[in-house]
Amino acid sequence: MELKGKTALIFGVANDRSIAWGIAQELHKAGCTVGFSYAGEALGKRVAPLAESIGSTFVEQCDVADDAQIERVFAAWKEKYGSLDILIHAVAFADRNDLKKEFYGTSRSGFHLAMDISVFSLIAMARCAAPLMEGRDGSILTLTYYGAEKVVKNYNVMGVAKAALEASVRYLAADFGPKGVRVNAISAGPIKTLAASGIGDFRAMLKHHEKTAPLQRNTTQEDVGRSALYLCSSLASGVTGEVLHVDCGYSIMSSPPANEEPEPTA
Ligand code: NAD
Repeated sequence: MELKGKTALIFGVANDRSIAWGIAQELHKAGCTVGFSYAGEALGKRVAPLAESIGSTFVEQCDVADDAQIERVFAAWKEKYGSLDILIHAVAFADRNDLKKEFYGTSRSGFHLAMDISVFSLIAMARCAAPLMEGRDGSILTLTYYGAEKVVKNYNVMGVAKAALEASVRYLAADFGPKGVRVNAISAGPIKTLAASGIGDFRAMLKHHEKTAPLQRNTTQEDVGRSALYLCSSLASGVTGEVLHVDCGYSIMSSPPANEEPEPTA
């Protein structure tokens, strides 16, 4: 797949394990010019060498909780490149305390925080990105998880946020479709990343996924990167408002499989 002459702005690389980094590498391999936005100064030190390794010259700090910072990044992008073809939103956050206890114990502030960083940020970014994409078959892609559809232990408020994110994908796809901009999500299987380390019992989740998924393995950064390349390319020209499961088939199975007892996790 060729993306020569195309540009992509990627939010959410924290380190080389980030799903966003897997996507960046695939887009780069396809010939796309890639730029990055990262959360904080400490992360900047990790993102800068990664960006350099694929020849990227756009690396901007942005706290997605702040509209002014988001607008500043897109203004800087417009100034440098004039237009945008691909936006990757791979950003999520929840208070760790809300990912350990029962869901009903979620605090009001924790609920707002998860929804703001993990959901509203997509809306805020999309409305900055869409005008730069008009007439260019633009593509916006976000990352979601199965916990949006079914109850996954410890995923709690993040599952509710992901359900809102998936609904937002459909509403944004309807808004921007007439302008030729597509909006989709990948529902990735569990992958060991910084964000995943905040989810209680994540190792047990990986083990269960590997055992249950039809492909009998865990999902990789590369699996997600390649599907992202498809969704952001003209191969997916007729696909919008979609949530594509890239999870080795886990989500088609009854869980746990009807003939097996779940393994003790402790
Ligand atoms: P990650 O920790 O590498 O990426 C999460 C990113 O969100 C980080 O770069 C972090 O800096 C950024 N972020 C958090 N708060 C921010 C803020 N206020 N402003 C700007 N950036 C902020 O972890 P990841 O697993 O690669 O997560 C990427 C996306 O994939 C997330 O939406 C996550 O929910 C989703 N996802 C992850 C998995 C998994 O198992 N790892 C599975 C399905 C979906």
